[in-house]
Amino acid sequence: QKHLTTKEIGKNIIHFNSIDSTNSYAKGIADKTPSGTLIISEEQLSGRGRLGREWESPKGDGIWMTLILKPKFPPSEGGKLTQIAAASVWQGINKVLGLKSLIKWPNDIVINGKKVCGILTEMSAELNQLHYLIVGIGINVNNEAFHNTIADKATSLFLEKGEKINRRALLCEILNAFELLYDSFVKEGTLKESLNICRNNSAILGKEVIIQQGANQAKAKAVDITEEGLLEVLTEEGKKTEILTGEVSIRGE
Ligand code: ADP
Repeated sequence: QKHLTTKEIGKNIIHFNSIDSTNSYAKGIADKTPSGTLIISEEQLSGRGRLGREWESPKGDGIWMTLILKPKFPPSEGGKLTQIAAASVWQGINKVLGLKSLIKWPNDIVINGKKVCGILTEMSAELNQLHYLIVGIGINVNNEAFHNTIADKATSLFLEKGEKINRRALLCEILNAFELLYDSFVKEGTLKESLNICRNNSAILGKEVIIQQGANQAKAKAVDITEEGLLEVLTEEGKKTEILTGEVSIRGE
C-alpha cells in the first residue's frame, strides 16, 4: 500500500526544505493546529535526540518529521506514544523494504546493531491536562555515510538494503500503520498491538543490559515490556523492577 489511507494522521502536512528542528517548530504551532498535523523537513539544522543530544539530519537523506497529537488522555499516558511510533516504523520498514529491524526500547530502531531510527516524544501539559503531544521520528533512509562520531553506531535503510529507497512510499506506510495503532490505543486504552510488535521484535528482551539513569548504572536482564510500555528487568539481586525511561545498552556491545 503506497498511498495515504488515513483520516487524521498526516492529512495536514507542513513541509520545509530546511528547518532548525521539526519538534521545535511543532511546539510553536501545536496549540493552533489540528491533531494529526505532520511537520516534515528535507533537513534539520539542529535536530535533537533525548537530553538535547544532536540528531544528524542531512538534506534529502532521511524522513525527519514530527506528528502533533491531541488525544484526550492524561499526561501520564504520553510516553506510550513512543511505543506506538516504534511499532509503526518497524511495520513500515518491514512491509515496504522487507527488512527485519529490531526495536531497542524505549525509542530506537536498529538493524544489525546500528541505529536507523530515533523517536523523541515530548508533551505540553498542565494540572494533569494534556495540551498536546509531539512525536518526533528521524529515520536514516538514503544516507550513504555518517559523521565520524556516529559512523560505528548509525546505519541507513539504503546501506542495509543496498538500494535507494522511495521515501514517500515508506512514509505513507508508516503513517497508515501509525493511525491504526493509535486509534486502537485511543479507543481501547490498551497498547496491545503495538506491544506485540515491540515485544516480538525487541533488540533487548532476554538479554543482559546495562541501565543508566542519571549517574547510576546497573546491570540487569531485560524481561518484558509491560502493558504500560515500561521495561521490566530482573536485577542482579534477583528483583523484578520496572524502568520508566533511561539509557539501556546491551552488555558486550
Ligand atoms: P539514545 O536513544 O541512544 O539515548 P538519542 O535519542 O539521545 O539516543 O539520540 C541522539 C544520539 O544518537 C546522538 O548522541 C548520536 O550518538 C546518535 N545519532 C545522532 N544522529 C544520528 C542519526 N542520524 N542516526 C543514528 N544515530 C544518530
